[in-house]
Amino acid sequence: MFEIGTLIPMSTLLVRHAQVLATMDDGGTEIIDGGLFAVDGFIEQVGPTAELPRTADEVVDLSGHVVLPGLINTHHHFYQTLTRAVPGAQDVGLFDWLRTLYPIWARLTPEDVRISTRLALSELALSGCTTSSDHQYLFPNGSSVDDQVEGAAGVGLRFHVARGSMSLGESDGGLPPDSVVEDEETILLDTERVINKYNDPSPGAMTRVVVAPCSPFSVTPDLMRESAALARRHGVHLHTHVAETHDEEQFCIETFGRRPVELMEDLGWVGNDVWYAHGIYVNDAEIGRLAESGTGVAHCPSSNMRLASGIAPVRSYLAADVRLGLGVDGSASNDGSHLIGEARQAMLLARLAAAPSIEGGRLLAAREALRIATRGSAAVLGRNDIGSLEPGKAADFIAISLDRLEYAGALQDPVAAVLFVAPTGVDQSYVHGKPVVKDGELVGVELPGLIEKHNRAAARLVG
Ligand SMILES: [Zn+2]
Repeated sequence: MFEIGTLIPMSTLLVRHAQVLATMDDGGTEIIDGGLFAVDGFIEQVGPTAELPRTADEVVDLSGHVVLPGLINTHHHFYQTLTRAVPGAQDVGLFDWLRTLYPIWARLTPEDVRISTRLALSELALSGCTTSSDHQYLFPNGSSVDDQVEGAAGVGLRFHVARGSMSLGESDGGLPPDSVVEDEETILLDTERVINKYNDPSPGAMTRVVVAPCSPFSVTPDLMRESAALARRHGVHLHTHVAETHDEEQFCIETFGRRPVELMEDLGWVGNDVWYAHGIYVNDAEIGRLAESGTGVAHCPSSNMRLASGIAPVRSYLAADVRLGLGVDGSASNDGSHLIGEARQAMLLARLAAAPSIEGGRLLAAREALRIATRGSAAVLGRNDIGSLEPGKAADFIAISLDRLEYAGALQDPVAAVLFVAPTGVDQSYVHGKPVVKDGELVGVELPGLIEKHNRAAARLVG
């Protein structure tokens, strides 16, 4: 009997001789002289090199490298790479920062969105990221989610594209100029269009769509509820900014008579299909309710420091088993997309938050911060097919060469050193068994040309 299935060639990948391979499985297994064997992008075996098959279509020798699951970025605004370090938005808090930047962002074109998406993903890939979310909430001058998807094509990272929205402009008492807000019917129709066009619910998916009003204060309560209903009809996830600043907490109490998390509960925005960016101003009872409902949080330490927003209660989230992931946040408030660097910031800021009563206490470990950036972020995005190197999971991994200057003297514990030493780029990165970074260079992006185009676009935009 002739079977068509037998004609489809399998593609196999063998990784050998990693000095240490950290799996990030439940037991935190780390394998000396480790490797993995993958078939068609999914891992079949992880273990010591001696126990793995001897050959494959592609064999990668990672002697002298530390290997980790690819890091996962759960919050970003890619278009903001065009407005890094903008004078006037450098030394102010969130509201003044937004007031300075909105008129600039209002000039964003479709080509700007494509260029900035490609640039942000390039920087993420070179710094250890294999999956990223991108929260785009303004679509001026005919730009659309299609531009984000087009910009991401060929870079090779998994992409959770969050179709954001704003409907309350200046004339409705909102912060953004009217030219960057949309009417609510348009928002819902276009969001459903991009779900139908791009969302892939299957395991190993490269693209998923997220429904993501910018914040509960930039759209009406009606649109928050309608967005949740739309997402749940299609089985996609929900994302928004919540409890980022003290001012926001006070505004919420004064305007709605509710604390931010209470407001979200009223709007139906809790559950294991929801994650918030920031989650700083939450009390212990609210942390408990987030844990119970399965609601996730994207921790963005650099942005929170940059805008003096506050410090998220990372240790309390972990202790309560809240799904906690990592995000670099938009490039106007970080202003880098260095994901290993961000994991280091998470480790350091959690330590500072423990001061001054640290005696006898244990500080947040490098491995805990790495777990937030891998398993934690995967859980926040609702994915059980990435975040660790185990049989059945996608072959998304990064490798860093240990003969770098930064690692000199740190070889007793290369896994912890990934966050303790100065943040480096990665030497190799694979997504779904395919190379994204080879020998420190992007495989699918011609970087010098992209940087030049991006600088031209930024100069035109900022003026
Ligand atoms: Zn943000």
